[in-house]
Amino acid sequence: MIIILLGPPGAGKGTQAQRIESSQGLVQLSTGDMLRAAVAAETEVGKKAKDFMEAGKLVTDEIVVGIIADRIEEEDCKNGFLLDGFPRTVAQAEALDNMLDQKNLKLDAVIEMQVDDGALVDRITGRYTCSECNQGYHDKNLKPKVDGVCDNCGSTNFKRRADDNKETVTSRLESYHAQTAPLLPYYGDKGVLKSVDGMADIDDVTAQINDVLGNLS
Ligand code: AMP
Repeated sequence: MIIILLGPPGAGKGTQAQRIESSQGLVQLSTGDMLRAAVAAETEVGKKAKDFMEAGKLVTDEIVVGIIADRIEEEDCKNGFLLDGFPRTVAQAEALDNMLDQKNLKLDAVIEMQVDDGALVDRITGRYTCSECNQGYHDKNLKPKVDGVCDNCGSTNFKRRADDNKETVTSRLESYHAQTAPLLPYYGDKGVLKSVDGMADIDDVTAQINDVLGNLS
């Protein structure tokens, strides 16, 4: 199964992708996570991407398409994958279509997570993750069961993303509306677009996504 999760920053793509990864056994491919790892490791890709990311702008299509093209060749992608944060431009979507065509693979669904812009700044500026296992949390909406201790792995170390601040969020939302929203009619025309209400609570969004996935197989 090949699935794309589409939605603005803060829509909950990462949280839902983690859940789908464990329930469906589909590997999550997050270009944001891959780019952050490249920046931290100071690779060539990381050096090229850093300034764009800090400014809340999209990294070039060439860089992200290259990352995904290499990644989907790996063994764990053989049974399908879930794309989180890619594609983000029509050029990236076209490049993905070509990659899938060449491998005789088909895109099963693009799941759009619909969230009002007004809710996104609060969602983004309040979020953080476990430094050890990457489990996501939020200051108000999703606290660990025991304060300061990760539910998943027991770690007491947490981190926040450098670009999860108010200024950068505005730029990221502008990029979404200008460059990524055109993917909605792109995939709508192909008949693969399914929308879920991303304003609902987290478990309810998961249930909506599971319904979509259940109706595919
Ligand atoms: P994310 O974790 O998906 O919010 O991505 C964080 C940042 O990484 C974005 O603001 C972009 O600078 C960059 N990025 C991630 N995915 C892409 C993509 N598909 N195309 C261009 N830039 C990306």
